[in-house]
Amino acid sequence: MRIDIVTLFPELCDSFLSASILGRARAKNLFEAHCHQIRDYTTNKQKQTDDYPYGGGCGMVLYAQPIADCLRAVQKQCADQGRAKPHVVFLTAAGQPYNEETAKRLAQYDALTLVCGHYEGIDQRVIDAFGDEEISIGDYVLTGGELASLVVADSVLRLQPGVLAEEKGYQDESYWDGLLEYPQYTRPEVWEGRAVPPVLLTGDHKKIDSWRGQQSRTRTRLRRPDLYERWCETHPLTELPKWKRGENMRLVKTDEQWNIAAELFAEGRYAVCKDVCTPLYLDTLTPEHCGEALQLDRKNGWAFYLHYTKNAADGLVGVCHKTGQIGHLFVTASAREQGIGSKMLDFARKKLPEHAHPTLTVLDTNTRALALYRRMGWHPVGVEAVYDPATDATASVYCQELKLRYEAQ
Ligand code: SAM
Repeated sequence: MRIDIVTLFPELCDSFLSASILGRARAKNLFEAHCHQIRDYTTNKQKQTDDYPYGGGCGMVLYAQPIADCLRAVQKQCADQGRAKPHVVFLTAAGQPYNEETAKRLAQYDALTLVCGHYEGIDQRVIDAFGDEEISIGDYVLTGGELASLVVADSVLRLQPGVLAEEKGYQDESYWDGLLEYPQYTRPEVWEGRAVPPVLLTGDHKKIDSWRGQQSRTRTRLRRPDLYERWCETHPLTELPKWKRGENMRLVKTDEQWNIAAELFAEGRYAVCKDVCTPLYLDTLTPEHCGEALQLDRKNGWAFYLHYTKNAADGLVGVCHKTGQIGHLFVTASAREQGIGSKMLDFARKKLPEHAHPTLTVLDTNTRALALYRRMGWHPVGVEAVYDPATDATASVYCQELKLRYEAQ
């Protein structure tokens, strides 16, 4: 790949591209980089590159002519090398937001030219005449396009074969698969009283990969729900964790089981409601009240199942044969992160073979469950209820109860 940067500060760009990983790769001819001085292409005596904006306003605007001539010179150099016409990107604060997807796309070009503005920007006519696209590296304004062009150059060049020691290096990084990266640790094992997560010291790579995957998903869900949502759409859960020895589902039949179910229901409801309901409502979530609610549901056609791990109940789910609803899905805190919730949901759905599209509801604030359901083929089809503190004495936060419908994957 050949990369050209058109700028008023070619030395600055060139020194960056000559340092560290990129510098070593450049020295090995793994890519070609050229930084061009816009001023060298001026045709006026003073070598002036900018002028006042038409229509008034503060600051100066870069002339179209020197940039156009510089771009023509780059095009000719590329043609002389037998390369395709370069793809031209103008770095502008008003451009399209930059991300790893764009980096991957730009990395496909044989020749890429990055044009840096300065002062108030560049005469729009040269952007219109030569630009294939305008890119912004973020929602803030820099004094010039050099840092922006280097951000683009760095993220594109590191994807070129051989630039990173191991190709897998970039495949594990944040954004490669649409998720943020898991946390990294190095020696010593304990630093200022903080220990490395023990799983990383086990040498068990299956376990380590699974821990890292979990960390990645949790981080992304909490820090970048927008990215997580998109990731869920493209990553359906096609393979569920296997049932383990000593793990099973039992229909709630005996009094003892009804009591356990009531306790788990109360615990589950509390976990979901604690941040969105008033203390008045939370106080009603006792096993007694919840037990009564379960009995009422039972009369209306619901059946409940407990999940057991080695004879200890740690999960609850209900199904309604009459309506095709699934509800009360809950896994105790100590049993989480083991795929029990997804196994139970799959179990419940299969208990309703007479309903091709069973439904369930979830609060939109329960992003963790919502994300899991989406990955398992459950899609929002409407709003079941709205909880508004202005009109509802039980609600402390505005939220919606979404109705989800199962669509075979
Ligand atoms: N007047 C412009 C505006 O309000 O959009 C800002 C011009 S800025 C001071 C000068 C140059 O810095 C721009 O021409 C552009 O090349 C570069 N620049 C500033 N912020 C940028 C960003 N977020 N992404 C990419 N380039 C940026």
